[in-house]
Amino acid sequence: MILSSLSPVSWFNDFLGVAYRYYDLRMNIVPLFSERKEATNLWNETINWWIDPSIKIRFVEIGDEYWFIMGSESQKPDSNLSFFKVLSKSDNYERFKKGHGGEAYLRLGVYSEQTLEDAKKDALCNCGHAAKDHDEGDNDECLYNICDCKKFSSFQVNLLKRKKTITDISFIEEQNVKEDPLTWNCLYVNKYSKTN
Ligand SMILES: [Zn+2]
Ligand SMILES: [Zn+2]
Repeated sequence: MILSSLSPVSWFNDFLGVAYRYYDLRMNIVPLFSERKEATNLWNETINWWIDPSIKIRFVEIGDEYWFIMGSESQKPDSNLSFFKVLSKSDNYERFKKGHGGEAYLRLGVYSEQTLEDAKKDALCNCGHAAKDHDEGDNDECLYNICDCKKFSSFQVNLLKRKKTITDISFIEEQNVKEDPLTWNCLYVNKYSKTN
């Protein structure tokens, strides 16, 4: 396929990752940003103008990673963007893959690191133990003998309120990407044309 036969797509991947959360009776797909302002601007300038039934989310697994691909027709096509990110497979991703049932909400999220002081007592550290099991004295080390965690670290995701409903979600094998124009455009522009 010749690239010029495709309509032009501007690809955006300057975000942190994607969270999958069960919230409001549906799975939520949550692209993550470090600043609330950045997420709000992107929503106002781009996603707000998307036409819900035309929003597409595609996943292509390649080894231990997967490509997250998202695009839509827009009421403001001149400033439209499509999103992609290459991410490591995770338990939450696998849960989403099994449980989405063909529908999800799209929301943007703000990702922030938490310190022991900010965290609720039952918040989980990245070591798997709760905040209350970490020393609140001079350092934050985990009190479990078997654990070598020296410092409490955790994160939280704040979801922005506005949402879009997505009903077009597919998981595509790499060998079939040419059959899906959005996916093919993404992989062609961001992978195949660069590795030749
Ligand atoms: Zn810990
Ligand atoms: Zn621990």
